[in-house]
Amino acid sequence: MTGSVALVGAGPGDPDLLTIRALRAIESADVVVHDALVGAGVLDLVPAHVEQIDVGKRPGRGVPQELICTLLVELARQGKRVVRVKGGDPFVFGRGGEEALVLADAGVDFEVVPGITSSVAAPAAAGIPVTHRGVSAGVTVVTGHRRAGEHDVDWRSLARVGTTIVVLMGVSQRATIAAELRAGGLTDDTPVAAIQSATTDNETIWRGRLDALADAPVDSPATIVIGAVAAMDVTAARAFVTSGA
Ligand code: SAH
Repeated sequence: MTGSVALVGAGPGDPDLLTIRALRAIESADVVVHDALVGAGVLDLVPAHVEQIDVGKRPGRGVPQELICTLLVELARQGKRVVRVKGGDPFVFGRGGEEALVLADAGVDFEVVPGITSSVAAPAAAGIPVTHRGVSAGVTVVTGHRRAGEHDVDWRSLARVGTTIVVLMGVSQRATIAAELRAGGLTDDTPVAAIQSATTDNETIWRGRLDALADAPVDSPATIVIGAVAAMDVTAARAFVTSGA
């Protein structure tokens, strides 16, 4: 009896942003193993008879990554169809890559179901296109997380690239990030937006300048957008066109 694991991206929160393949996987699961950032509306779609295990890593607590990997392997070896649900896309800061490597190593049959990443969906919720002809020719998605006091990202070099910067997990380090980007040459008035709990009932959007980011009233989970596109709101433009019609 051999089970399998599906590493499924659940999108940013709104269940309407699940892929059809993700929904099918959830509906045919024996057990769903999910993170903290999976939207409540998504978990509502898990059939009542399906076992749910919350391994959410919240700051300061949660299940260690090695234990999650062991759990996935064990459940699959019990012959279960395991659906590992992660926020956004499993391979964008979701540690899905690590889990895939462990599953492959253990000889467990697995598939990856990509999801809509918050690095694109959260800006979109605010009407911000991460690239825009004539405004931004690219986007760099980075983590604001610091490991052992060291930033993983060379912010000063990034400031010189000139593309849109999208920061995930950056709320607690936003003062340092802003200072480093300014030291790297970004001007104080560089537009910034922070979209918190995008596509959920708790969504909030803050807009301002780089020199105000340190004091921006933003809590995790939030996606921070830095660069000219952060001043845009194409949905406002659409509303304007509609009301004028
Ligand atoms: N794999 C996920 C990212 C995991 S890292 C993805 O592709 O979206 C977790 C970070 O994602 C959070 O700290 C936050 O920066 C961002 N995030 C996740 N859900 C979010 C949401 N609904 N709104 C805004 N940002 C979100």
